[in-house]
Order: sequence, then structure tokens, then C-alpha cells
Amino acid sequence: MKQPKFPLNKRLSKFKRAAQTVYARIVDKDFEQRLHEKELLQELQVHQIELEMQNEQLRLVQLDLEESRDAYVDLYDFAPVGYLTLNSQGLIIKANLAAGMLLGEDRNTLQMSRFSRYIDSKYLAQWNQAFASMIKKTSQRSELVLVRNDKSQLTVAIHGRAMVSDEHLDELRLALSDISAQKKIEEENQRLAYYDPLTNLPNRRLLMDRLNQALITAARSRHFGAVMFLDLDNFKLINDTRGHDIGDMILIEVANRLQSLVRKSDTVARMGGDEFVIILGESGNTRELAMNQATHMGEKICQLLREPYPIAGTEFLTSASVGIALFQGSESADHLMKQSDLAMYQVKSRSRNSLCFFDPAMQIELIHRIDLIQDLKQAISRNQLELYFQPQFDMQGCVVGVESLVRWTHANLGLLLPDRFIPLAEETGMIVPIGQWVMMSACLQLKRWQAFRWGKRVKLTVNVSALEFRQNGFVEPVRHVLAATDANPCQLSIELTETRLLQDIQDTQEKMNALKAMGISLSMDDFGIGYSSLSNLARLPFDQLKIDKSFVQFQNHEDEIMVQAIISMGHNLGLSVVAEGVETKDQVAFLSEHHCPILQGNLLSLPLKQQAFEDYLSSHDPCPSV
Ligand code: C2E
Ligand code: MG
Ligand code: MG
Repeated sequence: MKQPKFPLNKRLSKFKRAAQTVYARIVDKDFEQRLHEKELLQELQVHQIELEMQNEQLRLVQLDLEESRDAYVDLYDFAPVGYLTLNSQGLIIKANLAAGMLLGEDRNTLQMSRFSRYIDSKYLAQWNQAFASMIKKTSQRSELVLVRNDKSQLTVAIHGRAMVSDEHLDELRLALSDISAQKKIEEENQRLAYYDPLTNLPNRRLLMDRLNQALITAARSRHFGAVMFLDLDNFKLINDTRGHDIGDMILIEVANRLQSLVRKSDTVARMGGDEFVIILGESGNTRELAMNQATHMGEKICQLLREPYPIAGTEFLTSASVGIALFQGSESADHLMKQSDLAMYQVKSRSRNSLCFFDPAMQIELIHRIDLIQDLKQAISRNQLELYFQPQFDMQGCVVGVESLVRWTHANLGLLLPDRFIPLAEETGMIVPIGQWVMMSACLQLKRWQAFRWGKRVKLTVNVSALEFRQNGFVEPVRHVLAATDANPCQLSIELTETRLLQDIQDTQEKMNALKAMGISLSMDDFGIGYSSLSNLARLPFDQLKIDKSFVQFQNHEDEIMVQAIISMGHNLGLSVVAEGVETKDQVAFLSEHHCPILQGNLLSLPLKQQAFEDYLSSHDPCPSV
């Protein structure tokens, strides 16, 4: 018999194994189920823990939020910036404390008030514009002036944010900061940059802006305008002698008077010092009309500024020199300023207290002037200055004195008289070296003349300009020159014109006394044409007075009376009297009839060059030598 392939026991065990597997599978399924459930349970527990944690976190966040909200409310309420919320009609629906304070209202009153009622009416249009652009979000900042209930004003910077839904404004949130102080500082800086702090008038900078503007307007309208450059006469004298406080008050008053004269559209500016400029806008469509208008205004200015200035119980006097340049728009502002300045200068050098229009010839004159100043600087070193000598005669015809008169022989212009260059030398300060040269040359002459028969008798007079005399060290250099030249101080006389000596009377007296102590005599030149002649004469230690030639050359009967009066006054005061500018025999007769002791003038002798003077005296002097 054939043996089965698998014996029974083997088959049994195979079955057993299968049954075990089935069983195990059955048992396993249960197990998996349970395992799954257990896992689910665990997951649930994890979720629960997570949820609890999340809950806790939420609770904390909520607490945080509540704190933040409280903080926000505090911040909103107590913020230094004013917050307002407006509804779409512009009514205030919410406001913080600062907003209430800015607007000077409590918050409840603010609610449902119209914001625009707090805006200065001049700024309403600006607000409407800002409101529109805030809504469109094109601009979010604006500056406005608000008016509180008590009418006080403040400037605020406003930042706005519009809350818009469906293209409709829900609300507009505004933040307001008070920038009044900042604005004031800005305005003050602006004022300092563009206005003169003393008079509050526009300064040079603003003036130039306005002038440029006026030029544009004139060019458009084809109208003429005018620039008037104005300088006060004798202001420096008042300022120096009466103090800057008085000077300042006069300047303020001048500013007020000028402003009272011009139209609103014109500009009055202060350039500094005692210089003012007026721009007259449209002054007519022809040059003639504009000239008339400017002349009229210039005359009114001169007249008004001539009126006394009552300050601190005293009445001060000044006047104005006005230079005018017309414009029609094509000119440059700088040129106009120069032209009007030049015209003003012209008035100063002629008459003062009047007006003058710019004329191109002035420019040429200015160029000549500048050239002349340059040449004058070198005149001494080029040996171009020279002293001329004009003798002075007593009634017997003896030469008792001689006046030295400076001349300048210019390389191109020829012989120049002092009137042509002494004022220039005074203005530029060159009068000091020129004066020193004159003094040295005169003393050298005195010394040289000792060798002549007449040399010990004649007194030599030197003209000293008041400006030179007022220099600090005037006396000592004279002493040095006398010592260096060995000239006799008793033969030296100094001529001063009275006009400016009074500026510092004490200094003048001290210097005069010091000169007299050295033996030098003092003569008052051009007597009668200055101011306060008599008081000067009494207060200052003069030895001689010279009657100004304008009186000597009698134009009328009054002049004759003046001459008589001066002669007798000189006698009474014990002063020697010289009549200068004697040109006719009638004048000699009149002067001798009235006992004028000394005569000087072209009739008797012209001013002579040194050699001619020496020859003249040596051959003509009829008088015995001393
Ligand atoms: P001043 O001191 O009054 O001098 C008299 C002026 O009258 C001189 O003019 C003289 O030439 C002029 N004169 C003399 N006789 C007659 C006359 O009969 N008729 C007329 N019409 N004039 C006469 P000059 O030399 O032109 O001097 C003018 C002024 O210049 C002087 O007036 C004086 O103030 C000033 N000056 C002259 N030399 C000097 C100087 O060396 N230094 C200073 N600082 N000033 C001087
Ligand atoms: Mg003189
Ligand atoms: Mg004179």
C-alpha cells in the first residue's frame, strides 16, 4: 500500500495550527478594537487638555484685551493730542479730554456740535478743502486757526483719517495738536528774517523781493513806478551826541511818518542806519506822470520829516535827502537801488533836505569820483600837493599874515582847488594824512622864512578840517611837527570852521587849550554862516574870527549890517577880525570905515605859489621888519 503523502499527525498538527491562527485572529480583532478605543480615548483626553489650555489662553488674551481697551480709553482720554470723531455731516460724535481743552468746551457740549463752528471764518474755505481731501484720502494734514468760546485763538495741525464703507463716509477721525507756540516762533523767525526789529518795517531782503515783484507788475501793466532812497540829514550827529536811545526813537517816528504818507500797496523799508527806501507802485503810464507823482511824494516826505521830533521833553530836528529812480519793469532791482542811492548822494552833496532824480550823468560823475579817490590816495607820494599862500594886510598895507591854501596838480585834470578834493578827503578819511602833510609843509615854510626880512613878522595860518581836528591824536602830531621843523609856534595859527566843532564841545575846548598853551593862535573861519555862532565864540578860546566872504561881498544892506556887527563884536570880545574875499575897492573902503583890522582877498593879492609869494613880499612889503 502506498503511504499517504502526509501522515495524520502531521495533518492534525497542521489543522491545529490553522485553528490556532483563526482563534488568534478572532481574539486579535477584539484586541485591535480595544486598542483602537483606547487610542481614541487617549486622543480625546489630549484634545481635552489642549482645549483647556486654549481656553486658558483665550481667557488670558481676553484679559489682555480688556487691559488694552482700558489703557486705550485712558490714552484716548488723557492723550495730549485732541481726538475728535466727526460723522458724515461734520458733527462731533466723540471727543477726548484734550480736544475739549483745545476747544475750550467740556466734552458733553462738544458732542453733536458742528466742528466748523470752532474754525476761524478766514480758514473755513481751507477746512472745506481739507475735509474733501481727507475723505478722498488725498491729503491727511491741514493747519487751521480755531477760535474758542472765549474768542481766544489757537493754531492746530490736524491729521484726519476717513472711515469709508461703500464709498460713503462713516466717520472722520481727527487728531488735533496745538502748534500755536511753534507758529509764533516761525512767525518771529520770519519777522526777524524779513523785518527790521526796531521799526517793524520790511528790511532790505523783503524790500528786494517787493521791488522784484513791483518790476514784474510794472512790466505787465506798462506803468511806471519809483524807488525813493532816503537818508536823514544830521542824524549821525544826534545819534552820537544825544545817545542811541534818542536816535532809535527818531527812527521809529520817521518810520511812522513815512508809513502815514504812502498807499497800502507801496512799500516803506529800512535799509539800516538812517536809510529808508520807498517803492511807489503804479505811478502813471507816462514818465512825466510818474515824475510828478514821485516829486509830489518826495516833497511831502521832506516836509513831514522836517517837522520837529518831540522826544523826552526836547524837540529834535532832522531832514531828509531823497534820491529817486523811476522804473518801468525792464530794469534790475540792484541797478535801481544804486541809481536812487546815487541820486540821494547827489542831494546830500548839494543841498540836503530835498530830492533829486537819477540822471545817467550821475553815473559818469560817480566813476570820475572813484578815479579821483584813487588818484588822491597817491597825490602826496607823487608830490602833487602844493601850498599856495594868500597874504593878509592890515590897514596900512603891511602883510601881517598869510593863509596857506592847498592845491592839487592832477596829472590829467590840471590844477584842482580844495573844494574839488577836500570834501572827498574828508569822506574817505584821507584828510588826516593830507592835513599832516599840510601842517609839516607849512611849518617848514615858517622855518625857511626866518631867513627873510619879513619872515619873523608874518603869521602863517593853516586850515584844519573839523574832521581832522576831532581825531583822537590831533594835538601831539602838531607838537612833533613844530619840534621837528623848529618852527615858531607863535607864528602859527590854526583856522577852524565852527560848524562841526560843537559836536564834542569839551574835547574841542581841551584841544584848543592845549594848542594855545603851545603858543599857537586859533582863528574861527567862515564866521557867520554856521550855526550858533555866538555861543561858540563865547565858549571856545579863539583869538581871531574871519568874516565869511559871502558877507564881505555885500549882496544887500543886511550883509553890510552883519559885517559891521561882527567887527564890533570881535572888538568887544578882544578878538582880531579878518575880512576875507575882498574883491573891490568899495569893500575896502567900507571895511576900513568900520575899522576892520585885517583884509584878505583877490583884490589885494591872489593866493600865490611859494616862490611868487616870497618874491612878492620881498619886493612889495612896505612895512618895517620886526
Ligand atoms: P577858506 O579857508 O575860507 O579859504 C578862503 C578861500 O577863499 C580860498 O579858496 C581862497 O582862494 C578864496 N579867496 C580868497 N580871496 C578871494 C576873493 O577875493 N574872492 C573869492 N571869490 N575867493 C577868494 P580855496 O583856496 O579854493 O579854498 C577853499 C576852502 O578849502 C578854504 O576856504 C578852506 O576851507 C579849504 N582849504 C584850503 N586849504 C585847505 C587845507 O590845507 N586844509 C583843509 N582842511 N582845508 C583847506
Ligand atoms: Mg581858511
Ligand atoms: Mg574862509
